[in-house]
Amino acid sequence: AQEALFDAADPAARAEALRREIEHHSYQYYALDAPTISDAAFDSLMRELREIEAAHPELVTPSSPTQRVGGYVGDQFAPVVHEQRMYSLDNAMDLDELDAWMERVREACGGTLPPLCCELKIDGSSIALTYEDGVLVRAATRGDGTTGEDVTVNMRTVRDVPLRLRPDAMDAVTPGTHTLELRGEVYMPKKSFEVLNAAAVTEGRAPFANPRNAAAGSLRQKDARVTQGRDLSTFMYAIADERALQLDGQWELLQWLRAAGFHVNPDVQRCDTAAEVRAFCERAIKRRDELPYEIDGVVVKVNSFSRQRAMGFTARAPRWAIAFKFPPEEKTTLLRDITVQV
Ligand code: NAD
Repeated sequence: AQEALFDAADPAARAEALRREIEHHSYQYYALDAPTISDAAFDSLMRELREIEAAHPELVTPSSPTQRVGGYVGDQFAPVVHEQRMYSLDNAMDLDELDAWMERVREACGGTLPPLCCELKIDGSSIALTYEDGVLVRAATRGDGTTGEDVTVNMRTVRDVPLRLRPDAMDAVTPGTHTLELRGEVYMPKKSFEVLNAAAVTEGRAPFANPRNAAAGSLRQKDARVTQGRDLSTFMYAIADERALQLDGQWELLQWLRAAGFHVNPDVQRCDTAAEVRAFCERAIKRRDELPYEIDGVVVKVNSFSRQRAMGFTARAPRWAIAFKFPPEEKTTLLRDITVQV
């Protein structure tokens, strides 16, 4: 209670303390793939900072973690400047916040809710794959959204990444386009994560905190043979510049990605009403534990590319998409030498 009184009296000091703490944990998480607090604890620090900044807009700085895509670009890999920025996603922490977002979309679209596309939120690491005339030439991490890390050699070892796109899919490519940058998630299946961590413990190495950190850490290995020995898979769901394909929207893009040879998550649904979106989210929460890979929410996207363009982006996320986050699991896990909620 004493701390709360102090905070209210000096929001600038509290905001600065929160920024320092968030920066520290972001470094642990994104650079070292070794978080020391749970995601729920990290999210509540971010939320408190966001609340202070909302109440005191003069305290917002361009470098505040609330205004940026969280990430890290190390010097271990060559930097890749993304031609189109890679964004994060804004969160809805419960169904009411999801409803509020759908209401904003309805307003932005002239009073009618447009068709939405619901996908599972894969808890892995963002990846961008560039193909020149159908051939894989580069793979990059999200990094800080502007600059990522060149992990081409490592990504080539991930077995479900096509080195060449299927020729049939090339019919939809906009004439004159030679470069396609497709985006998605690299993840490690839950079982493989457990096996990897059990081996780490036996060999006296530090285990990974969760499958997401294991995927990110396995991808960012200096020696590609280490990556090759890890069980990584992908789910692809986005294109950097949708004008490169003659398609109308997200749903059509997912079908195209599958036709082009990518691994696309089958649990997707096109929804016309808010009730259908909520039902998809509720089903996903129930099915979460059955899935062989980790998900931490549902991503809801405005389907039409032209509507997406009209809505645009904030500094860190698209306005046309939202991540409905699942409530944190009440499971307690031993993370290194401390016990945390994950
Ligand atoms: P995020 O992971 O919550 O959401 C954005 C990402 O979702 C996108 O970049 C994309 O890679 C991914 N995604 C998965 N499925 C998708 C789909 N179907 N469509 C579109 N995107 C999809 O955001 P973030 O900024 O990458 O990371 C924030 C998360 O990291 C929070 O959960 C936070 O708790 C955690 N974090 C934890 C710590 C810690 O110390 N524990 C530190 C930093 C960040």
